Amino acid sequence: MDGDKTHKLKRCRECGSPRKVSQLLNWNDNGTITQSLNRNFRVVILHSDFLDGLFESVEKRLGVSIGHIAFEAQRNASKTVFGAVKQKLGPLADILTRSTKFKRAAVEQFNDTARITGQCLSETIEYIPGERGVARIRNPFNLDLMAANVVGAFELLESKPFEHEVEKVGDDTYILKVASASEKPEISERMELRPSKLFPGGKPQERCPRCHVPTDLSCFSWFEEQGIIVDERRGIRVVFLDGYVPSAVFREIATELGEDFYDLVVEAERDWTTRNAGKILGAGSELSGDRVKKAFERYLEMLRLYGQGNPAFLEVDADALSVIIENPYEVHLLAGMFSGLYEAIVGERARVTWDLPREQVARYRVKPA
Ligand SMILES: [Zn+2]
Repeated sequence: MDGDKTHKLKRCRECGSPRKVSQLLNWNDNGTITQSLNRNFRVVILHSDFLDGLFESVEKRLGVSIGHIAFEAQRNASKTVFGAVKQKLGPLADILTRSTKFKRAAVEQFNDTARITGQCLSETIEYIPGERGVARIRNPFNLDLMAANVVGAFELLESKPFEHEVEKVGDDTYILKVASASEKPEISERMELRPSKLFPGGKPQERCPRCHVPTDLSCFSWFEEQGIIVDERRGIRVVFLDGYVPSAVFREIATELGEDFYDLVVEAERDWTTRNAGKILGAGSELSGDRVKKAFERYLEMLRLYGQGNPAFLEVDADALSVIIENPYEVHLLAGMFSGLYEAIVGERARVTWDLPREQVARYRVKPA
């Protein structure tokens, strides 16, 4: 039904970023990105293979699959995102969601969101309101989480549970079918997302005078006709995701396995980072002395652009690195990231410790082990 419809996004005349990006998202000075419609709800930018790598590594160490837990967290995140739109509409939402025309428009909106966030290229093949939807998905950043997003969006639109099926039909191309279901797993209810109050302040960022996104965002290229975004400075694909999914997944697993599980998250993240440091830093890694600081400064600037937190303090002395991050998007993942980068740059095994001097503030110290 898409026919000749173009997937091209309209751009800001000044900075070239897609206009919908600046309409839907705010880059705040406090190191966070939030939704325009829901100022408490965070969005983060991640390297697209980051979650695959992390989940795989955690699964290998635990010997159990965590895919279904991630699925439920993403399903709830999706409902929260589109729920904000529904809430804005107020009582009108109930009237509109009874209209087939509105529902069709909403489904096209889901496809738009997928392209704008670099999650995939999604095209509707069939949609029967209240019953089922079929879409062709190209280049999904993660097939399970992508499916969870679609299922969550449909559940919200149709106000009932949905289930899904995926079939691979070509090179990174899939047919995703969703259909109304009688019930959903009990685990889903436990995985409510918990947005927390953000730490204020931060440092002003240089912004586009026209659309107000950070000028650094110009290092991103949107290839919306393929459904992907590339950070050109690093040559890696990135994806905009709901900021609470990793924490919700970890919390659920820690409830089952105990708090020790978080050590494993830090280790898994450290190992992934060490392996990918070259890409993350976008430069060679035989660094020492002042260049350690330079490399970290460059990395920390990226943290703000990616909405992962505000680096409020960095100190590098002879034998340790100290960093303070306000609004860390996930404390353990950042701990793993810092120790991984340190190992890659300094070339020695590292040990990371941290404390939380205030709510939404994390203070890290990385030293040779
Ligand atoms: Zn602009």
